[in-house]
Amino acid sequence: MAELFEMTDPGAIAGYADVALEQSIDSAAGLTYAVPRQLADLAVGDRVLVPLGRGNKPVTGYVVRLRDSTQQTRIKAILSRDAQAVSLTPDLIELARWMAGYYCSPIGMVFASMLPAAVKHGTGEIMQTLVGLAEEKSAKCEVRSAKDESNPKSAIRHPKLSPLQRTVIATAQALAAQGQPWTPMRDLADEAGARTISPVKQLIEKGVLVTRHESAIRAASLLEEQAKQVPAPPPVTLNAGQKQAVERIAQSVGGGFSVHLIHGVTGSGKTEVYLRVIEHLLNGNGDAKPQAAEHIRNPKSEIRNPKFSPAAIILVPEISLTPQTVARFMLRFSSAGVAVLHSGLTASQRHDQWRRIRHGQARIIVGARSAIFAPVPDIHAGVIIVDEEHESSYKQDQLPRYHARDVAIKRAQLLNIPVLLGSATPSLESYYNAVPDAKPEAAANPKSEIRNPKFYYHHLPDRAPGLTLPTVQLVDLRDERRKRYQMTGSAGVHLLSLKLETELRRAIENGRQAILLLNRRGYANYIACPDHRCGWMMECDHCDATMVYHKDQSLPAGGMVRCHHCLSEQMLPVQCPTCGRRVTVFGLGTQRVEEEIARKIPQARLARMDSDTMRSARDYHTVLDHFRAGEIDVLIGTQMIAKGLDFPNVALVGVISGDTSLNMPDFRASERTFQLIAQVAGRAGRGGETGSALGLVIVQSFAPTDPAIVLASKHDYLGFAQREIALRRDVGLPPITRMARLVIRNEDHLKAMEEARKLADHLAQHNARLDNAVRLRGPMPCPISRIAGFHRLQIELIAPRAGLIQQLLTSLRNAGLVRSDAHTAVDVDPVSLL
Ligand code: ADP
Ligand code: ZN
Repeated sequence: MAELFEMTDPGAIAGYADVALEQSIDSAAGLTYAVPRQLADLAVGDRVLVPLGRGNKPVTGYVVRLRDSTQQTRIKAILSRDAQAVSLTPDLIELARWMAGYYCSPIGMVFASMLPAAVKHGTGEIMQTLVGLAEEKSAKCEVRSAKDESNPKSAIRHPKLSPLQRTVIATAQALAAQGQPWTPMRDLADEAGARTISPVKQLIEKGVLVTRHESAIRAASLLEEQAKQVPAPPPVTLNAGQKQAVERIAQSVGGGFSVHLIHGVTGSGKTEVYLRVIEHLLNGNGDAKPQAAEHIRNPKSEIRNPKFSPAAIILVPEISLTPQTVARFMLRFSSAGVAVLHSGLTASQRHDQWRRIRHGQARIIVGARSAIFAPVPDIHAGVIIVDEEHESSYKQDQLPRYHARDVAIKRAQLLNIPVLLGSATPSLESYYNAVPDAKPEAAANPKSEIRNPKFYYHHLPDRAPGLTLPTVQLVDLRDERRKRYQMTGSAGVHLLSLKLETELRRAIENGRQAILLLNRRGYANYIACPDHRCGWMMECDHCDATMVYHKDQSLPAGGMVRCHHCLSEQMLPVQCPTCGRRVTVFGLGTQRVEEEIARKIPQARLARMDSDTMRSARDYHTVLDHFRAGEIDVLIGTQMIAKGLDFPNVALVGVISGDTSLNMPDFRASERTFQLIAQVAGRAGRGGETGSALGLVIVQSFAPTDPAIVLASKHDYLGFAQREIALRRDVGLPPITRMARLVIRNEDHLKAMEEARKLADHLAQHNARLDNAVRLRGPMPCPISRIAGFHRLQIELIAPRAGLIQQLLTSLRNAGLVRSDAHTAVDVDPVSLL
């Protein structure tokens, strides 16, 4: 077992390594171990087994630093390399250390996010035979081929070889020259145009080719398969805005770290800009790349192609990972190898993709949030792209509570490469970094004196040729109620206004399609006693929230009620438990919209898309395929449908309730409302038509004069951003300031209060030592004061700079006074404040 080395016995030791443990103690620096001679080639990032504690229990960890000496006098040795020979890249190790510090997370939890379990367990692994040229023989062939440069293939004149065998050798040589000396047997035969593998086998017998065994995982993802069916779009000529953006970004490729915000309305061709920047990179521009910082360069390079190998990581929200998106990258960059990472992968597929990336076989990585941890070797020649950077799904709501956009920026900084953030509705954080004085003209020139922006700003104000921004009409639901009442004399519930109903009919009659958004699933969100003197309203037993009614005809009560926070369910009560009257349900939900349209426009073919109907990524793609094929007229859904969908036949987009997110107790409520309306409005008018067939967007609202709604309907992002940033400045909230939020949870209310108060006291004491640089608010109840039986209290930390919050949290953390665990959530840069 573990050997204990005395410092007087250095003979058996090749050096020392700091190892950060997976089941971490709260330290990112790691513990120092001796590196035994047989592991002399150990590198930063390698996963290893080390002895821990009195019992020398073997535990896993990662080498975070190699050192020549140590102050320690007695030291244990590393036991072995990890059985799967897994390693993270040095820049990922550096990133993990930064994340553990910045997001107040045990480093082990960060590693767990970085390395998929499937990789650790080696899921789906098989052994495969690779073939390569026997060095000596291939050298001889090289000499010969050099004589006849006009046709290298015919040059292999080994008398005893058949033409097919010669082709195989030439193919192997060509592959080797491209940096791929080893090829699976079958692939080599295919490449050489042989129908069977026998010529390859014959060459092995002759000793011209030699074999090597390597583990492999064979698994293609469904998304990739579907993407292969997508026809290639026609090539496009960049418009002036795109051209300028590509040129300016291209200049910085190879010039080290820089951040670019690409603010382009929906359909302005942002994706095309990303594609061109990557093309530029793959064409070898940016070759004069500066190296990544010394400490994160991998001395033991594992890339198959030791030459220049640029790479790109493209993050997209899970929901935008459609076959169409993937196809755009696969069609352009198949030769560089495209890997796709998303939640729908099986364990072996995930493992396979990870390996391909790790070994440099896939250099274009398209994926959702966690793809930011793609283990690309030597990506210091590359670019990172975050599409739809404003998306809140980039924030992970469990440990480590990281934001993939911010981690992307950090990783790019560590690698000294550019990072591109794209959005039609940039987060105010990014916008503020690019345009600090909220005047875009000044930002167009990053050298402007006004105030040094941190990001370059690229504006694409126009839609691609043939696409126009749709007209947005606001419908005042208060008027609508009155009108309906005058017409019918009854106050029955109508979720569709007369205007929306008319336009919906028109669209369907004209053979066009419609998308209807309602950001709330279920049927109705209030179940109450009809008698207001009684006032009973159904609430979750475990949460501070109302229950939502979901209709389901197969159930005896016709449906059930569910809490959207803790997911507990009950049957729909028939009677009010207090006074015995028959309960009524009211409020809105996607199910109810579907029902109303089915009743009013029976010929409409409907599909509903929300997390009740979409159980998997496959369901989602299936419905979208049917919609694309014109088999569905109206798509009804939650914010799931608001993103990135590109359907030319959509003539009408309806927002059932523009106010749903406006009344949330969260300072970003306006921003969310603006984003949602602006994004969903961008789904219309993508068919490139003119005149009356232009896309139409109808936004229904009880607050049609609210600035967020008015400005979104005018597609006026800049107006909104300037206004909102001014408001945030007045009250000292992000993005002007930075924030962290501590949530204290306990099933026992008193304990929660006690804990929260203790923590607040500690914070105040340590803050005093920092001259009270951080503004502390709370403890106070969270807006949702109880979830799943846990009482929730919060403390907010606000400061002009992130560094001050870091200092305060680190100070507490070092004193063992705060830590992220089951009772305390430390959320740095929170995006949700509920
Ligand atoms: P975004 O990512 O900004 O929503 P896309 O890059 O997806 O925009 O472009 C929207 C559509 O316009 C796509 O079908 C794309 O092929 C097309 N497109 C992009 N740029 C151009 C251009 N310069 N000329 C013609 N069509 C373009
Ligand atoms: Zn609940």
